[in-house]
Amino acid sequence: NPADILRRQRARESAARTYARSFPIVPVRASGMTVEGADGRRYLDCLSGAGTLALGHNHPVVTEAVRRTLDSGAPLHVLDLATPQKDDFTEALFATLAAGFRDRARVHFCGPAGTDAVEAALKLTQTATGRRGLLAFTGGYHGMTAGALAVSGNVAVRAPVPGGAAEVTRLPYPYAYRCPFGVGGERGAQIAAAYTERLLDDPAGGVVPSAAMILEVVQGEGGAVPAPDGWLREMRRITAEREIPLIVDEVQTGVGRTGAFWAVEHSGVEPDVIVMSKAIGGSLPLAVIVYRDDYDGWAPGAHTGTFRGDTLAMAAGAATLRFVAREGLAGRAAAVGARMTSRLDGLRTELPVIGDVRGRGLMIGVELVDPQAAPDGCGARPAAPRLAAAVRAACLDRGLIVELGGRYDATLRLLPPLTITDEEAEVVLDRLSDAIAQVTA
Ligand code: PMP
Repeated sequence: NPADILRRQRARESAARTYARSFPIVPVRASGMTVEGADGRRYLDCLSGAGTLALGHNHPVVTEAVRRTLDSGAPLHVLDLATPQKDDFTEALFATLAAGFRDRARVHFCGPAGTDAVEAALKLTQTATGRRGLLAFTGGYHGMTAGALAVSGNVAVRAPVPGGAAEVTRLPYPYAYRCPFGVGGERGAQIAAAYTERLLDDPAGGVVPSAAMILEVVQGEGGAVPAPDGWLREMRRITAEREIPLIVDEVQTGVGRTGAFWAVEHSGVEPDVIVMSKAIGGSLPLAVIVYRDDYDGWAPGAHTGTFRGDTLAMAAGAATLRFVAREGLAGRAAAVGARMTSRLDGLRTELPVIGDVRGRGLMIGVELVDPQAAPDGCGARPAAPRLAAAVRAACLDRGLIVELGGRYDATLRLLPPLTITDEEAEVVLDRLSDAIAQVTA
């Protein structure tokens, strides 16, 4: 009985449970974009495990790879031993990398989650540079772990991070709609880049020597906020000139979602480290960092973990990476995403509560605002988080799963599978616009 399941889990699970609060459904079956609840209701899933399901739910390419691996008798757990599945996954992964980067790339298999890979990337660059400062951005989201290492007792295990906890400098992200310097668009991004460069060079600017700069090419949890390509190239220049490694967190943007296999490719920037998770495991937990071999300064055992070789995840992941490449799904994400974004943009006159429509490929954000309030100097109106939560609920009533994000929790985030059909895209937008119209009527 779904009501009993919901009640029991509500009673027994940690108060930190999140998605289950917004979506009181008990999924029992799923295929492609459609999830079926225990009550028989069907939903179009525009959350896709926060961007994890590049091929949607239970794609035959994934389920067959898992079944084949299970039937083969391969050990499911092997710590980080060499296996045919790891070899095959690594082959498939390296084939997706830009040629120049691939030739000098190393992969490190991290714990199962994106946050584990972020930790690994930070620690790798801190080890390589001997610095503990980190440059990060307003609105950025990279994961939840920070304490695990600090509370470890083994001094040798903690030693790779010089000086203990990192000191983070938060820099302005070029969020065109709520621009940090009162100027939007490309010009605002240029100002943000110039500010960053001056701050790094200011001896009294308070920035300690930096082990790395970490950024998202399109901020995901931050509300589907894309960075202009020119700004990214500036970040590359600024970090290269100061010998600061550039870490690009592609946990959410990777595997075709933004219209390129890796989002950083849009700008032509070659990063030093790419953080990967979510879609690379084909819906099973898998996380890696891929980095330039000259940063490979770790001694054996300097960064370890139990779950670094999940056989099924590697099989599912290899199949997914190859399918996305072979079927040109990044190109499809770009095309469908552009059509969806343009239709959403067209709704703004009819539904003035839509303040901003943005994103790249199938990573789309619709920021809801108070249309009665006066715009600021950039033309942005105050965010409307309560309204956005009501729209999310109205979407669920109409059979559409859409999650919120952004710094004010007022951005509807659309992250459908890359396999979304044109018809499904239309239905998603029909339901979404209907929900917005009903809530604001
Ligand atoms: N980085 C980015 C860009 C993310 O979007 C997320 C998850 N939303 C993470 C890191 C952390 O990944 P995980 O939740 O798997 O730990």
